[in-house]
Amino acid sequence: AAKNAGKSQIVVYDMALQEEAVSRINIQKELQQAINNQELVLYLQPIVDISSGLTVSYEALMRWNHPEKGLVPPDLFIPIAESCNVIFELGYWAFEECSRIIRDENIDVPLSVNLSPKQFRDPNLIDRVKSTLTQYRIPEGSIEIEITESSFIEDIESALSIMNEFKECGISISLDDFGTGYSSLTLLQRLPAVKLKIDRSFIQDIITNDRDKNIVQGIVWTAQSLGLSVVAEGIENQEQLSFLREMKCNLGQGYFFSKPLPVSHYIN
Ligand code: C2E
Ligand code: MG
Ligand code: MG
Ligand code: MG
Repeated sequence: AAKNAGKSQIVVYDMALQEEAVSRINIQKELQQAINNQELVLYLQPIVDISSGLTVSYEALMRWNHPEKGLVPPDLFIPIAESCNVIFELGYWAFEECSRIIRDENIDVPLSVNLSPKQFRDPNLIDRVKSTLTQYRIPEGSIEIEITESSFIEDIESALSIMNEFKECGISISLDDFGTGYSSLTLLQRLPAVKLKIDRSFIQDIITNDRDKNIVQGIVWTAQSLGLSVVAEGIENQEQLSFLREMKCNLGQGYFFSKPLPVSHYIN
């Protein structure tokens, strides 16, 4: 009987895997259509200058307005898109939609768009970015990109050369989720980035956890000595903000300032 129970558990496990595989394939198919069906949408969240309280830019964050499931957050579909080529199309869509917002809506600060590490393997990336910038007549400095350290794992040299091409197009670069991945000071020195975004996981317990506090202070000092701006992600309350101000962290983002909101919230 024990043997049989073991077997049936394996069968159940198999079925769960199979169901998951089927649902991934369905999501992949649906994502392909989501662009044409205009189901994707960008929400904007302000990045704020901590000393003046002024918004310096907005991060564009993708949501999927699914006909049955409602508003789906990116963590539930970006990883699936990254496991197939759909991420390339999603990436282009986000870049073009940012460009359209900049052209059509009266938003007075730059928009910053997230780039998947997978997009670095796309040989058409830079050409497509350049033609979008031209098509939408995007002024230099009005669009920024956010990349993560994992963009550099496969091939540092080619990733750096792509970064330099972005810079030449007038697109400035933020290093996102900093502190969670593989970071070397040599890379930081060579990367044509202007901002470091400290991952939310370090900010969360900054009041009570001395280790996190020290890490954040270390990142702020490191960034400043390299001439980079620092953004603290995930600021949720006044106490965290006060700590970060004392640490001379210059920029912040988080629910304390605002959750990501639809573009319509920011225009008259
Ligand atoms: P990210 O680029 O690190 O974006 C910041 C995430 O933190 C966003 O989650 C934002 O809503 C959330 N956040 C901001 N402030 C707070 C806070 O105070 N508390 C908490 N708990 N969370 C806060 P979101 O919008 O769910 O996006 C998750 C991730 O999905 C992003 O992380 C980014 O890696 C990815 N993503 C979003 N849009 C795109 C896109 O257009 N392309 C690509 N490739 N990835 C995207
Ligand atoms: Mg980001
Ligand atoms: Mg981040
Ligand atoms: Mg993230």
